Amino acid sequence: GAYGSSGFQYRLATTGDYQPSLRFPWLAAEACKTFSMKLSNSYAELPGDFYTRIETERAPNPVLIAWNEDLAAELGLQALGGDRDQLTRIFSGSEPLPGGQTLALAYAGHQFGHFVPQLGDGRAALIAEVMRPQDGKRFDIQLKGSGQTPYSRRGDGKSSLGPVIREYLLSEAMHRLGVPTTRALAAVVTGETVYRDSEEPGAVLTRVAASHIRVGTFQYFAARKNLDALRRLADYTIARHYPQVANEEQPLQALFGAIVEAQARLIAHWMALGFIHGVMNTDNTAISGETLDYGPCAFMDEFHLDKVFSSIDQYGRYAYGQQAGMAQWNLARLAECLLLLDDDQTAYEEILASFQPCYVRLYLSLMSRKLGLDETGEDNGTLVAAWLQHLQDHGLDYSQSFVRLEERLQADTPVEFGEFETLWLKQIKQQAGGQLKAAENMPSSNPRIIPRNHQVARAIEAAFEGDYSVFREMHQALSEPFTQQPGLESYAEPPLPHERVRLTFCGT
Ligand code: AMP
Ligand code: MG
Repeated sequence: GAYGSSGFQYRLATTGDYQPSLRFPWLAAEACKTFSMKLSNSYAELPGDFYTRIETERAPNPVLIAWNEDLAAELGLQALGGDRDQLTRIFSGSEPLPGGQTLALAYAGHQFGHFVPQLGDGRAALIAEVMRPQDGKRFDIQLKGSGQTPYSRRGDGKSSLGPVIREYLLSEAMHRLGVPTTRALAAVVTGETVYRDSEEPGAVLTRVAASHIRVGTFQYFAARKNLDALRRLADYTIARHYPQVANEEQPLQALFGAIVEAQARLIAHWMALGFIHGVMNTDNTAISGETLDYGPCAFMDEFHLDKVFSSIDQYGRYAYGQQAGMAQWNLARLAECLLLLDDDQTAYEEILASFQPCYVRLYLSLMSRKLGLDETGEDNGTLVAAWLQHLQDHGLDYSQSFVRLEERLQADTPVEFGEFETLWLKQIKQQAGGQLKAAENMPSSNPRIIPRNHQVARAIEAAFEGDYSVFREMHQALSEPFTQQPGLESYAEPPLPHERVRLTFCGT
């Protein structure tokens, strides 16, 4: 149906010769001890097979092109902002962050359905963890594009400026749109040329994440049948992300339940925004429930359930309408890892099955708000489906159509959205507050500005010529996605036919 076409019937692989778990001690005391400094490296205290200590490469001629003052302030890193030269050296990887330890993390992953037992940070380096002053929440600070690591395989460990600009714009927009996501702290051009399809400027992005633990991190140890490490990882994950589950009778099952819910929430947000991740491999599925890895991702212009942008997604495995099903598939892979520690297969299957109702509930709630509908409305599901069908049948722009629909509440002219509009208006009029209330509520759920592909492409093109003004202006426009800022109206416009972008590339 309209909520994602792929089925939800992924069965778990049987546990076979997996051994039942021992009860493991919860590391509350240790967690408190290691989690108390403002800058620290709790991951570096995990056993050596979790990561490799590395040194990042010196950039020949680094220039800082973006420094996220808001995020720096939020993380208590303002002090760093004082010396631009030092900032440039640190966030190009040319100099270590004082107090940090530089690690490349180990992980595995299913890539487009095929299991790769060793991936790991091939062009990324965790340089420190920081505690947010307001609540003590821990964040990873990671450089992307700072040189080769033992996990680079044939890659150069570098990043081109294109993907750096793309991730900076999209992750910050995602944050402002209210969706869990990693963020961008800094962007530096290195002065080096990297070789992709052509010669391109090299760059380093600094990413901030709740952590970089992925489904693939669990798979890394599960594939090696390293149960001690798997247990350590589960303990660490609970202490860092889901401390509330430590007191549950079945902490591992409760952990899985919390992760299932976080994924359901994330995908509901993506779907409501018309966002297509593009590479939902298990190594890009963050345990924290944040959007991770902005590769060939895109916000849809005209709506279609089968929309695919990624140039590497040949068979549409990660098409827009597949995303909920694929998230559940990834969660099934996580369950298989946890079953090595706790072999209650029925319990994990039940928790996995809760993904769909949880997702549908969250998605419907978001969509109801976007359509100005009372969340308790019994026909909301039917209305949402009719709306999407109308958009798809007429090839309408997804985000802009919601804004147009808002305008229908004040309009006196014949319907613009066919039969759907008549049904929808009838429902709105029956609700408490009627049209007036709906008109009041809808704008805060429907972004005026989203990072559209053709605009991102313009920002990248200009940056390749050394002009960062489009990038900065677009970043400014996206910082208030629910307002139309004077002078920045053009960013709200869908592409003209000749501007339309149909394919996106990893560019790595
Ligand atoms: P991604 O598609 O970005 O999730 O990356 C998948 C894997 O390929 C990860 O292990 C990356 O670290 C690695 N990788 C991607 N690009 C490069 C590169 N330029 N150099 C080395 N490793 C890379
Ligand atoms: Mg990745």
